[in-house]
Amino acid sequence: MKRKTKYIFVTGGVVSSLGKGIAAASIGQLLKSRGLSVTLLKLDPYINVDPGTMSPYQHGEVYVTDDGAETDLDLGHYERFIDVDMKQVNNATTGQVYYTVIEKERRGDYLGGTVQVIPHITDEIKNRILAASKNNGSYDVLIVEIGGTVGDIESLPFLEAIRQFGLAVGRGNALFIHLTLVPFIRAANELKTKPTQHSVKDLREIGIQPDILMCRTEKRLTRNLREKIGLFCNVNADEVIEVRDAESIYEVPLLLEKNGLGQQLVTKLGLNTKEPDLCEWQSFVDRVKKPSKKVKIGICGKYVELRDAYKSIIESFIHAGAINDARVELEWLAAEDLENDPENIILSSFDGVLIPGGFGERGFEGKLNATQYARENNMPFFGICLGLQCAVVEFARNVCGMEGADSRELNLDAEHPVIDFQPGQEGIERMGGTMRLGAYPCDIKPKSRAFQIYGKKSVSERHRHRFEVNNKYIKILSRKGLKFSGICPQNNLVEIIELSDHPWFIGVQYHPELRSRVASPHPLFVDFVRAALEFKKGKS
Ligand code: GLN
Repeated sequence: MKRKTKYIFVTGGVVSSLGKGIAAASIGQLLKSRGLSVTLLKLDPYINVDPGTMSPYQHGEVYVTDDGAETDLDLGHYERFIDVDMKQVNNATTGQVYYTVIEKERRGDYLGGTVQVIPHITDEIKNRILAASKNNGSYDVLIVEIGGTVGDIESLPFLEAIRQFGLAVGRGNALFIHLTLVPFIRAANELKTKPTQHSVKDLREIGIQPDILMCRTEKRLTRNLREKIGLFCNVNADEVIEVRDAESIYEVPLLLEKNGLGQQLVTKLGLNTKEPDLCEWQSFVDRVKKPSKKVKIGICGKYVELRDAYKSIIESFIHAGAINDARVELEWLAAEDLENDPENIILSSFDGVLIPGGFGERGFEGKLNATQYARENNMPFFGICLGLQCAVVEFARNVCGMEGADSRELNLDAEHPVIDFQPGQEGIERMGGTMRLGAYPCDIKPKSRAFQIYGKKSVSERHRHRFEVNNKYIKILSRKGLKFSGICPQNNLVEIIELSDHPWFIGVQYHPELRSRVASPHPLFVDFVRAALEFKKGKS
């Protein structure tokens, strides 16, 4: 039977960084726990076609989907929370919307007309909302998160489009949820509701009356305060939901359920559902909050001061830690720090090292030091994308004696380009969307550690890179003991490397962190944490 999709629009007010993505994903989890099928869409008001060309300093991590879209990192939260595969249709930007409209105009689709924000841009935004709700069949609920903060000039067309959309589908079929901040002012010893009042006023000026307010706060939002907010914002006190700061983002769905949000959603949307089942979620959160063991992993990258650049890796370690009953402490090292650590004092304090993905030269030598240290000291080593490339260069230089081994990315004239351009990548000048992107199959050699860990001969993992292991060097590297345990059958590219005479030394050309979810932590992260715990035991 074809379902009639209901829509929930999530906007944000007062300040950015309130965790709108987590809020939207948590709403998804509350609905899913009642047996509903849910999907999400993120609308981003910036003009880039996608975040793929932005620096991590601007945007944090670029989240890659199976179909090769470079998307907003909130899609990572969506997948991790509700365990549904996101695709290109689940993220749209101003850049994409205008691109489509301008292409239509050049084709002559609007011949005779003046192309305008209303109705042409807003119609295209509405098309994208419909497309997300229809992708992969039909859903009970589509949650649409609007990036930015109400009051931004650039989000206006999106707000106008959702206003129109809500009107078209009618009351009971669409809900508007506004996430705001109720700050605690120390001098007055009071929570202040004025910023929320103003933000809702801005929203109502645009024609949107929020149905539910979610209020971020560090103190309890009393009934009195909720009544006050309700009075000024034209909602009932029960429609003002407290969202207290939480120790873990994974607690948020539980807090929201406790504060009555789940019930509000289904009542307002007229959805008949079973009672929510959040037992497994609760037991995951318990494991995250009270582990009995501890392990310390050094992460050696380029953007360490900006944790958002490695969001999915951090979350993957939370998932893997919970299964191993361990708190995984991540220590962030600028790769340059290791270039000035000849005694390896920093490195020796770790129970494992991870080299994440990255681009460009800065800190490469430091990463090589960390890799060599882990290899020579039997310390668990996990290389992801650039991390695999780093492991291959280090092995070529220090084990195979090829001093001039390098990656073509860092040294165009390398004597031994053990990491080289993928076929067809050399000479590419357009930067947007031109890397090897998205899911590819990987065949795993049966007698390998990778096979033991995955328990499968073939897996599918997501990619985002231009360079690869140069197959011309495979023979010589293998002869010295580097094992190429995973290969992409479509183009014969190396996907996994490992060392057999080391307790845990694995590099992968793909990004396993993009597949780890609360419901299914990634096996490589789970086993890496297990190996690090083992290594720690051996040290003491
Ligand atoms: N810079 C490397 C490449 O393009 C690695 C990319 C990555 O780590 N995501 O191949």
